[in-house]
Amino acid sequence: MKFLLLVLFIALIPAFVPPFTSAQSANDKPPNVVIIFTDDLGYGDLGSYGHPTIRTPHLDQMAAEGLRFTDFYAAAPVCTPSRAALLTGRYAIRSGMTQMPGTRRVLFPDSEGGLPPEEITLASALEAPGYTSAHIGKWHLGIHEGSRPQDHGFDYVYKVPYSNDMDRRPGLPASARYRPDPPADGWNVPLLRNGEIIERPVDQTTLTKRYTEEAVDFIVRNKEKPFFLYLAHTMPHTPLFASESFLGTSLRGIYGDVVEELDWSTGEVLQALQREGLAENTLVIFTSDNGPWLTEREQGGSAGLLRGGKGSTWEGGMRVPAIAWMPGRIQPGVTSEPASTLDMFPTALALAGEPLPGDITFDGQDISPLLFKSEALPERPFFYYRGHEVFACRLGDWKAHFITPGSYDGRPRETHEPPILYNLLRDPSERFNVADEHPEILEAIQAALEEHEAKMVPGAPQL
Ligand code: MG
Repeated sequence: MKFLLLVLFIALIPAFVPPFTSAQSANDKPPNVVIIFTDDLGYGDLGSYGHPTIRTPHLDQMAAEGLRFTDFYAAAPVCTPSRAALLTGRYAIRSGMTQMPGTRRVLFPDSEGGLPPEEITLASALEAPGYTSAHIGKWHLGIHEGSRPQDHGFDYVYKVPYSNDMDRRPGLPASARYRPDPPADGWNVPLLRNGEIIERPVDQTTLTKRYTEEAVDFIVRNKEKPFFLYLAHTMPHTPLFASESFLGTSLRGIYGDVVEELDWSTGEVLQALQREGLAENTLVIFTSDNGPWLTEREQGGSAGLLRGGKGSTWEGGMRVPAIAWMPGRIQPGVTSEPASTLDMFPTALALAGEPLPGDITFDGQDISPLLFKSEALPERPFFYYRGHEVFACRLGDWKAHFITPGSYDGRPRETHEPPILYNLLRDPSERFNVADEHPEILEAIQAALEEHEAKMVPGAPQL
């Protein structure tokens, strides 16, 4: 009898232990979300991704404690559409925030368009479950009312409104951008806090440092609430600037100095979370908006073994470093499951225990099962958009190119009929076309493309 009671007791234990779901945590506040978004950082630019001389100890540590992605994508090969896609969870064509016939490729200071007010960003979707949100860093989604961060759910804003090479001073050649010592007063870029210009031109040498201080302050100020911090660095987009403590200190020249300062910055953010006792309840994602700007010569980054760079739909243009960190919740490791910035919106909402807004087409999915249970994700197509056109599609291990880009490398754009096919696990550098041997794969990818395009409703052009 005693034995039976013991068995019964043991069998009932799980009923009294509350389930540890993705939306709950030890201190019963929904998890904080921090997205650290670098600009033009390449797949091969971090120590943990194989760079021989750029030293990134904090990011390497983050990778050792977290989940490092080998196959993570930005949803566009250039800035504006990539950011629109990250914050809306939708390919940028849906919001009109990408190049359409007759428009430019990104927003410029004189552009009239911007992220439409009716688009729902991650910051606005997190308002209902009580999150406080900050945008710190580069915005590049519009400067007019309705398109600014404060119009899209961000409660605190410390921003540079567009790229740091825009607003060039008269007489300064465009090529000054990729000089190893660009003139500090060469660009008339403003820095704003909550809608007010506080410095113009912004001193770019201390931007990474000041973004970091702002990010840490925001974390400390809001430690009692759930928060979303979108820390979108201006660097390492050219012109490159590092603060005094980093300038001239790396083996890789100014580009290395800048990336090593970004590494320091990430370490500061993670340490602040640890110091405040928030680390176990904060999902941090570190990634990049697109691949390296290869035409910037020594001032551009590296895509490692991947082909192409920024502006192209080769892997180097859109596959980016990505590390997810949440100590005690994310099993440390490396994953080759394909995922993308489109997945951040649904994943963050799932963590917050908030349903996705209805009547909206989302292009990503909640990747919590991969992050927290090391489960494989269901196979789904990923579309490599360049402007409003799908140039390529990945399905499982395979990638088909329908069009290959001219990009910045001077080569002409080419249409492929039949498409070119690569096995990305075996051939990450996209060298060996295996279309002839796998007609059934091409057929499946073509079908996925047709289904995607049949349902696509492009937004009104904004660029
Ligand atoms: Mg960029």
